[in-house]
Amino acid sequence: MSEHTPVSASNAVLSSSIPASRRAVVIYSGGMDSFTVLHKAIAQGFEVHALSFNYGQRHSRELESARKVCAQLGLSHKVVDIRAIHGLIDNSSLTNNDQALPTGDYDEGNMTSTVVPNRNMILLSLAIGYAVNIDAEHCFYGAHGGDHAIYPDCRPEFVEKMQDVARIANYTPVEVHAPYLTASKADILADGIAMGLDYADTWTCYLGEEAACGECGSCRERLAAFAAHGLTDPVPYRQSKG
Ligand SMILES: [Zn+2]
Repeated sequence: MSEHTPVSASNAVLSSSIPASRRAVVIYSGGMDSFTVLHKAIAQGFEVHALSFNYGQRHSRELESARKVCAQLGLSHKVVDIRAIHGLIDNSSLTNNDQALPTGDYDEGNMTSTVVPNRNMILLSLAIGYAVNIDAEHCFYGAHGGDHAIYPDCRPEFVEKMQDVARIANYTPVEVHAPYLTASKADILADGIAMGLDYADTWTCYLGEEAACGECGSCRERLAAFAAHGLTDPVPYRQSKG
């Protein structure tokens, strides 16, 4: 199988007993937000088909976490390689190794260098297409309130417009769900804890090293969420950030 062939950990074998109204595609990066969304969709009784994208992230730690979790849960999981479009959307420090990654909190202006142009519109378009293809009427993704300041395509107005478009773009209307649209990272974690989730198999750090850096915006936001609940993050950090 070539590097550019979409890979299925387990193929989307559809059970005919499940109606389209109970089948969902979940955009699942392997990070803690989409990990929680994945479990929320399962808890709501959906037959979940996880969809991950290799868009040329600086590292594959998140995707490895996604593969492991889907295998453990026995979920249909596709990892789609969209690196072919990299030349169109590479002006971001998240996908361009020539650009230094900013450190510091999300609300600092320098984090805008981590915006991948039009990312969620591209990913949602593909996920909605996949949903139509497998006769699923639902599509979940993990936009959350903490992303609003930096990422325009995580804001409510974007999600509302995408919901409208997904209802009319195909013969089959697809409902787009962003269950944590107005939630903070700490709120998402609280919901995951209530569902009994173990966040050891999630990866958040922008760097893909053996231990998380604890310094990038993504690590800092994650650590703050655990701290808000008086919990210790189960993933290893370079230094103890408790
Ligand atoms: Zn980090």
